Amino acid sequence: MPEERIGLLGGTFNPIHLGHLRAAEEIEEKFSLAAVLFIPSYIPPHKLTTEIAAPADRLAMVKLAVQGWPRFAASSIEIEARETSYSITTIDKVKRAYQDAWLFFIVGVDAFLEIETWKSYREVLEQCRFIVVSRPGYSLGQAKKVLPGEYRDKILDARGLGRVGQSSIRKNQIFLVDIQALDISSTEIRRRIRRGEPIKGLVPEAVEEYINNNRLYQE
Ligand code: ATP
Ligand code: MG
Repeated sequence: MPEERIGLLGGTFNPIHLGHLRAAEEIEEKFSLAAVLFIPSYIPPHKLTTEIAAPADRLAMVKLAVQGWPRFAASSIEIEARETSYSITTIDKVKRAYQDAWLFFIVGVDAFLEIETWKSYREVLEQCRFIVVSRPGYSLGQAKKVLPGEYRDKILDARGLGRVGQSSIRKNQIFLVDIQALDISSTEIRRRIRRGEPIKGLVPEAVEEYINNNRLYQE
């Protein structure tokens, strides 16, 4: 039996949108993932404003968004920890929960470009395989430039590959994947809500309803 492959997609999810789901769907297929865990980060209450919804609301929206996707799940691992979320801590915990699985940390290129600012980022790169996905407005190739030299030979440009087979997955591989990314961001969604503009087609319907019912992101 080949190892079970699990994708982790972390984010503020403020709110979750169709761009996140599109990325997860494409990666789940290409890498034959058994599951993708969506992990909203904990943001301490003193940082909450109308700009950042409460952890419970962000988690509730992620749960609504993954309904109907058999391989997607919401994970409350960071929110339950009630402390600033660091990827290294989360990866350690997920590794303990899924001991025999191969973990793939899915990240948009915009977030990956800042990897050097992550806590213990070298350790993060050693603990987990990475899948860096494209996003409108960012160059996927830039991802190669931000890494220290010793990590560059771990990069596999998976743009030409169809499904990614066992043989392409070495330990600590960093895959670059050009997905059909949607030009959607949570920032833009929040801006539209503040201005009273519709967000139809940007988030799942159930998430739109949740935002309306709870009057999130309105000033
Ligand atoms: P914000 O504008 O508030 O930063 P966001 O849309 O960037 O929100 P995040 O919660 O910050 O959403 O993103 C979580 C992860 O999903 C990050 O790795 C990010 O790069 C990735 N991501 C977000 N939107 C897209 C998208 N449209 N296409 C591909 N990846 C995305
Ligand atoms: Mg972001």
